[in-house]
Amino acid sequence: MSQSKNEVVIFLGPPGAGKGTQAERLAAEHHLVKISTGDILRDHVERGTELGQQIKPMLDAGQLVPDDILIALIRDRLADMEGVRVIFDGFPRTRAQAEALDVLLEEMGAPVNHVPLLEVPGQLLIERIVARGRQAAARGEAVRSDDTEEVARRRQDVFREQTQPLIDYYGARGHLKRVDGVGSMDEVYARILDGMR
Ligand code: AMP
Repeated sequence: MSQSKNEVVIFLGPPGAGKGTQAERLAAEHHLVKISTGDILRDHVERGTELGQQIKPMLDAGQLVPDDILIALIRDRLADMEGVRVIFDGFPRTRAQAEALDVLLEEMGAPVNHVPLLEVPGQLLIERIVARGRQAAARGEAVRSDDTEEVARRRQDVFREQTQPLIDYYGARGHLKRVDGVGSMDEVYARILDGMR
């Protein structure tokens, strides 16, 4: 991966594909800042902010939070950055978000560099999400309200309907790299790096 000042990576893939875990490692090893919109939104819910109260029912139901809220969050998050070395995890999720992000990044002179797409078969995604919920419970950690089988299925539908079109969006710009997301964490990570050479 380039060592230049700006580096923008967008992790695409359905819920449960392993975006968060892989993005975390890539960020740590390449001095990038991971921006996870799911984490930011859950933090608002936990702190009970006005925004948190407004969006809690959407997160619980596995529905997307409105684009204008997400775009404002990302604009604020990028505003005070000097070099833009970021990995987006869970953003953009709609075409409107992708277009807004392109405008923001263009203003900052930091266009998108890489868009790995983590591909994992549907049934495995549900199993992974349900297992994640059970493991968190067993460890005494907070369980995500949307890590139940029913909501996990809804989130897959939402991905297919609203986020899948971004595969073509970034494919047409030559940024997309399909990555087989089945395998150990290390195997998948190695494939992601390969795709970014
Ligand atoms: P995640 O942790 O990425 O699976 O996101 C958890 C939930 O947060 C999603 O099911 C949505 O309700 C909400 N969310 C996260 N990112 C976005 C986004 N880019 N656009 C809309 N809603 C989002």
